Amino acid sequence: MPKLNISHLSRHPLLTANDNASTLEQKLSPKFHRPTQRLTPSPYISDKAITKRWQKLNSYTDSSLLLDQQTKLHAQSYNKNIEHFIGTVKVPVGIAGPLRVNGLYANSDYLVPLATTEAALVASYNRGAQLITAAGGASAMLINEGVTRTPAFLFDSLIDAGQFVAWVVGQYDAFKQLAQSTTSHGKLQDINVNIEGNQVYLIFEYHTGDASGQNMVTIATNEVFQYILDHSPIVPREAFLDGNLSGDKKANAYTLRHVRGRKVTAEVQLSKQLVEKYLHTTPEKMVRFGQVTTTGAALSGSIGVNAHYANALAALYIACGQDAACVSESAIGMTRMEIASSGDLYASVTLPNLMVGTVGGGTGLPSQKACLDILGLYGSGNAQALAEVAASLCLAGELSIVGAFCAGHFSRAHQKLAR
Ligand code: NAP
Repeated sequence: MPKLNISHLSRHPLLTANDNASTLEQKLSPKFHRPTQRLTPSPYISDKAITKRWQKLNSYTDSSLLLDQQTKLHAQSYNKNIEHFIGTVKVPVGIAGPLRVNGLYANSDYLVPLATTEAALVASYNRGAQLITAAGGASAMLINEGVTRTPAFLFDSLIDAGQFVAWVVGQYDAFKQLAQSTTSHGKLQDINVNIEGNQVYLIFEYHTGDASGQNMVTIATNEVFQYILDHSPIVPREAFLDGNLSGDKKANAYTLRHVRGRKVTAEVQLSKQLVEKYLHTTPEKMVRFGQVTTTGAALSGSIGVNAHYANALAALYIACGQDAACVSESAIGMTRMEIASSGDLYASVTLPNLMVGTVGGGTGLPSQKACLDILGLYGSGNAQALAEVAASLCLAGELSIVGAFCAGHFSRAHQKLAR
C-alpha cells in the first residue's frame, strides 16, 4: 500500500538523516567572501564595455557564439532594451501559414514567424493555420483595449481614505492632462477606485496607440502619482506607484472578463470533411474532448479554459519583439467548441490580455523587426491587426492540438519530430 499524505520533504536526503544536519547548515548559511567575478560598473553598450565583459567570460565559452558579426554590427540598436549586453541568443524561428484572418483590422493571409526550441510546435500551428485558411479564414474581432497602472495609497483610517477618494473624483481632468503630457499616443480612458479599509487603489486605464504600453502607462501614471503626493489635502501615510492590481505579468481572474492590452475574440466553422482531412477525427469527438478538458481545467483551478495559448504567444512574442514575460497574463482566455446547426464544428477563442505592440519595446530590434516585416505588421497602425493575428494563431493551435489528442497522434507527433 502506498503511504498517503507524506510530505515529499520527509524523503529528502538532507532533511531526514541527523548526521546531515551540519551539511545542511553549511550549504544554506550566508557566505561573506568577496565574489571572484564582478561586472563592469557601466551597464551601457560600448565596444570597450563588451570587450571587458568578455574578458571575464571567455573561460566559460567562445564569445562568437553570442557575439557574432551581425550582433556586433547592430550592438548599439540594443541600447534601450538591455543592460550589461554581451550578445544575442539565437532562438530558431520557423514559419507557419498562410493563416487567413478576416478581422476588423487584420485582413490578409499571414505567414507567421514563431521562435521556439520545442519540436512539433511550428508543425502544429502550421497545420491549424492551413485548416483555418481552407475553411475561408478565421473571423476575428478586437473588442476592447486598455493597459493599467494601479497606485496604492495608505491612510490611518477609512475616514481619511474616503476623503481622499472624494478629492480624487474632482481631479479627473487634471489627472488626464498630466498623464497625457508625458506621451503623444497614450490616452487616459478611465480611473477606477478600489477601497480596502484604510487603503486605496487607483486604477488608471489607458489606450496606448500601437505600443504595448507598459512603459508608457508607468511614466504617465507616475506624473499623476507625484502630483497627488504634492497636492492631496489628505496626505497618505505611505504610497506606492503600483499596488499589484494592474495584472502586470501575472495571470489574473479580473482581466478574464475585462481587458489588459487588447481583447480579441476569433472563430471558425469547419466542415466534417475538413476536420477529417486535416485532423483525422470528427467534430463530435472534438466537442466531447472539449467537455472533458473543461472539467479538467475547472478541477485544476485554471483561469479560463484553453489548451495551449502560451505556446503560440511565447513563440510569436519572442519572434516579434514583444515582452515574452507577458505571456503569463496573455495566455488566459476561453476556447469553446460546439456542433453548429449545420453539423460543422464551431470553434472560438477569446483572449482578453494580448499585450502586443508594433512600435516600441523590442519591436525595432533587427531580427524582431524582420519578423514583424514578414507579417507586414511593423510600425504605426498595426497593433490591433497583430492582436487579431495572435488570437487567430491561438485558434489554429487549439484546433490542431485537440485534433491530435482526438486522433491519438499527440505523443506520436512529438516522438517523430523531437526524438
Ligand atoms: P516604449 O518603447 O517604452 O514606448 C513606446 C514609444 O513609441 C513611445 O515613445 C511613443 O511615443 C512612441 N510611439 C511612436 N509611435 C507610436 C504609436 N503609433 N503608438 C504608440 N506609441 C508610439 O514601449 P512601451 O510599449 O510603452 O513599453 C513596452 C516595454 O515596456 C517593453 O519593452 C516591456 O518589456 C517594458 N515593460 C515596462 C514595464 C514598466 O513598468 N515600465 C513593465 C513591464 C514591461 P509617445 O509616448 O510620445 O506617444
